[in-house]
Amino acid sequence: EIPQLNGNIKFEHVNFVYPDTGIQALKDVSFEIEQGQFVAIIGRTGSGKSTLANLIMRMYDANNGEITVDGAKLDGLNLNNYRSQIGFVPQEVFLFSDTIKNNIAFGLDQVTDHEINTAAKNAAVYHNIIDFELKFETMLGERGITLSGGQKQRVSIARALIKEPRMLIFDDCLSAVDTRTEEEILNNLSRVMKGKTSILIAHRISTIKNADKIIVLDHGRIIEQGNHTQL
Ligand code: ATP
Repeated sequence: EIPQLNGNIKFEHVNFVYPDTGIQALKDVSFEIEQGQFVAIIGRTGSGKSTLANLIMRMYDANNGEITVDGAKLDGLNLNNYRSQIGFVPQEVFLFSDTIKNNIAFGLDQVTDHEINTAAKNAAVYHNIIDFELKFETMLGERGITLSGGQKQRVSIARALIKEPRMLIFDDCLSAVDTRTEEEILNNLSRVMKGKTSILIAHRISTIKNADKIIVLDHGRIIEQGNHTQL
């Protein structure tokens, strides 16, 4: 068990094959993320970026090689305790037919309006929400309104941020957000995640230019890693 996750992640010669398809999605992947780093993972479609995030979240176990978190083997950690400390925004946004408020507060027992507002502001979706007549009580889904793709992504980001996570993983969740809004979110992240690890799977150069480390994947292999000026 990790009482407090520091967010030091190390992969050593990790291979991963999806059991159902036999596709080898990661090949001999080694890298280290230090606590507090802002890391961008880039690469073409199908290069293994989501797989990398899924392994960090321990949705799957590596076939061989070793993944350690703060020096401890990932597969020996208490999964609930570990995941509860990570703000994970998956590529596929998942929203419920419920109010915006409950969608943001999902999985948490006690949430104040102030916390909801702060998370929405940091995810740059607050102004969209208060423009709705019922504001945070607005229903989504079948019985409610439909959000735009970018709004959905930002509600999903707010859901991750309200946990005040010790580490953040964004799987390509800024794709439907315009560059100005993206910049606003990244600025907020650099403030709220200061000293904590953030891992962003990204496409645009604008997302990654301030990264401490950029990992470039190609066909499941790391072909380059370094910062923007080194690459
Ligand atoms: P994208 O940018 O399109 O999201 P990606 O870089 O995130 O792509 P992955 O989703 O990690 O790439 O996919 C890597 C490889 O693993 C691909 O060949 C893909 O088809 C395969 N793959 C991904 N998810 C699964 C799964 N759940 N089951 C089987 N194979 C999968």
